[in-house]
Amino acid sequence: MNVQEIQERLKEGNKRYVEDKENPTSDQGLRNSLTGGQQPFAIILSCADSRVVPEMIFDCNIGELFVVRVAGNIANMSSMASIEYAVAHLNCKLILVLGHESCGAVTAAVNGGDNGPNLNHLVDHITDAVQAGEGKELAEVIKINAANNAKTLASNSQIIGDAVANNKVEIKSGYYNLGSGVVDFLD
Ligand SMILES: [Zn+2]
Repeated sequence: MNVQEIQERLKEGNKRYVEDKENPTSDQGLRNSLTGGQQPFAIILSCADSRVVPEMIFDCNIGELFVVRVAGNIANMSSMASIEYAVAHLNCKLILVLGHESCGAVTAAVNGGDNGPNLNHLVDHITDAVQAGEGKELAEVIKINAANNAKTLASNSQIIGDAVANNKVEIKSGYYNLGSGVVDFLD
């Protein structure tokens, strides 16, 4: 599959999800077929929010998506290292950074203040979006944050950056609407 076909597959899965027409879930046969290795067709960097579950949102089965979840869908060293593995060893051609409506991590970044060392570290990765989106609605800040972290993946990771430069992988960003279940592809 090329990137266009991968994106279409994600869109079709999201359509089934939105229309409550999901496919059957995994079974023993599928689990057996995957014990020797994995060939996910896309990488998703999404939030840890319990309402944002990429495998469900895109109506995918086990083995189909390489998902990295961290609050605020940020590109920090750990999330990038995970994605580097999928780019370098699993030949995934699309990375989707998926922000979502009413993201608590982005809200914390907008609110500012001292949240302790761990959350402060996380929020540091969202500050640029807060500044760029000053005066705008939360949804806009969330979209800017997804786009920013998509750029960070390429700029702060040699492996991902090289793969983008060599047309081996494309990075896109998206926005998940909690109520409708629709994923808007932002670029
Ligand atoms: Zn969130």
